[in-house]
Amino acid sequence: MNIAPNDLVLEIGSGHNPKVRADVLCDKYLLNDTERGGSIVTDRPFVVGDAEALPFRDGAFDYVICTHVLEHAQDVKRFIGELERVARAGYIETPSEVGEWLYGWDYHRWLVNRVAGRLVLRRKTARGPFGRLFHELGATDVDFMALHRRYHHVFLVQHEWRGAVDYEIRDSDDAPFDLEDAAIAAGLLRGGSRPGVVSRAKSALWSRTPDAWRARAKALLTRRAASGRRRADVRDVAACPRCKGPLRWEADAAHCATDGLSFEIRDGIPILLLPDEGGAA
Ligand SMILES: [Zn+2]
Repeated sequence: MNIAPNDLVLEIGSGHNPKVRADVLCDKYLLNDTERGGSIVTDRPFVVGDAEALPFRDGAFDYVICTHVLEHAQDVKRFIGELERVARAGYIETPSEVGEWLYGWDYHRWLVNRVAGRLVLRRKTARGPFGRLFHELGATDVDFMALHRRYHHVFLVQHEWRGAVDYEIRDSDDAPFDLEDAAIAAGLLRGGSRPGVVSRAKSALWSRTPDAWRARAKALLTRRAASGRRRADVRDVAACPRCKGPLRWEADAAHCATDGLSFEIRDGIPILLLPDEGGAA
């Protein structure tokens, strides 16, 4: 990711595993863990918000990280418009179509591919055919996981953008490339930023490290990444999720005068969701 040392970085859908470099975290679900792999992490400035109605000021961030969220979107156009509104650059990661069919997460709504530098999205209208099969294999077989890491670019879409996100929504059942074509299939296997030997060895070691050690190492790296940079204050960047205007802050609530909305602050975490998403009053 192309992040400068002093960039202010937002991560959306940070969930149980936020990136070390994120300054501000935003997730829609504080307590509901069903669409992620573990309990939420709130070790730095954190806001509860919806990616399709982001509670941040225009241009509040230099960079927005958004991994494994876009494929959940109800309205892709609104979602991407919000990313572009709050940051001038960012990184989007999703499962690729191959990854989506292989692993098959029922709650994903979109099939995503990256074709000639552009994200191509199609609505996912069927369940993946393999159920839990490859999740089980990943959890139990280190050789399978090594293969997954070696070909991670086949299973993932990784898209860095600046200014605007190049994307299109296609209304078609057909994938944007034909894997019956041997040359195209070989190109897909070769392509992407296939990790080098050192990076593969590092991630293999990391994947064998016990969870508690991993959490400690990550906390240490996060503190190191944050040292020397000013800790972000949520009040400087947050805004009303409806009108994007400033909020008036109290100890246990934030208010938008324009919309007449009051948002709860629970244990120091502002719940900046609109009333139809279960927030505000
Ligand atoms: Zn408002």
